[in-house]
Amino acid sequence: MKAIVFDSGSARLDERPDPAPAPGEALVRPTLMGIAPPDLAVLAGRVVFTGVMGHEGVGVVERVNADADTRAKWEGKRVVFTPWVSCGGCNLCARGLSPQCQARTVMGLHRRDGCFAERFTIPAANLVEVPKALADDAALFAGVVAAAVHAARVARIEGKPFVTVLGDGAEGLVTAQVLAALNASVRLLGETPARFTRCEKWGIKHRHVSEVGQRRDQDIVVDCSNTPAGMDLAMHLARPRGVIITRNAPALVPLAGLASRPAGADLAPVVCNELHVVGAGWGNLRDGVDLLARGGVEVSSLITRRNRLSDGVGAFRSAMQPDCVRFLMGQS
Ligand SMILES: [Zn+2]
Repeated sequence: MKAIVFDSGSARLDERPDPAPAPGEALVRPTLMGIAPPDLAVLAGRVVFTGVMGHEGVGVVERVNADADTRAKWEGKRVVFTPWVSCGGCNLCARGLSPQCQARTVMGLHRRDGCFAERFTIPAANLVEVPKALADDAALFAGVVAAAVHAARVARIEGKPFVTVLGDGAEGLVTAQVLAALNASVRLLGETPARFTRCEKWGIKHRHVSEVGQRRDQDIVVDCSNTPAGMDLAMHLARPRGVIITRNAPALVPLAGLASRPAGADLAPVVCNELHVVGAGWGNLRDGVDLLARGGVEVSSLITRRNRLSDGVGAFRSAMQPDCVRFLMGQS
């Protein structure tokens, strides 16, 4: 089968044998795949990884290596999938902290082949069925929406707080929509007008990041910027005793093996202003599917470009263009 493989510092379209599902695993044929910021972090060498890339997609289950009931439940179904796999046996898993499992693997990022291929395997327990009414183009964003819902829960929106979302990638644009729907007064700060002016159609205020004063008046700042500078800016936007939710993905993947950590921000404002800094990770994929199925978030405008998997690694160059929000790959 064809697969996009990262090895020895570069990505290439390669031929690989079809993977065989281990006990409990499903063999999935991806129909649509998304190139997300962590994939670009792999390309840039910020995440140490060798193998088939990709962790975001929609697919059809071809076969499950499990009992008849599990096979009947999943085979032929259209699914999205949680990309990380916990061990189920360590003390963190036993305490309900399986997303933080120290032995976890992550598709396309850490010790597990990903989905940029004609087939991949994932535990059946990681699958979530996609409702018939939800098209692949929308379902692809289930993980992005799930993470935004999770961040909103962590932020505990009460009343009508002033919220700033940093970052104009898909993560920031979806998080701003989810928070705005919770009655928060949301503005999004971005660096690329071609990306963040999408906010207008959702009635969400937006500004270029260079145009805002650092007045320390925001109740909540959600950092989806994917840059080391995001945390520094967040500390200067949040009010005293305000909350910073960080979803800064390259800084979120030490479990995936960060090659070189960016220089740390000066955390003095956290101390002096008694800021609450909380991380928010993947979220529950089912929350993402449910919100998309209810039409609670608009994602179609986030699809900037697309091509086929067999067109190879040129997709990454397009995905890195400043105006690209999400680059999608199909099989044909
Ligand atoms: Zn574990």
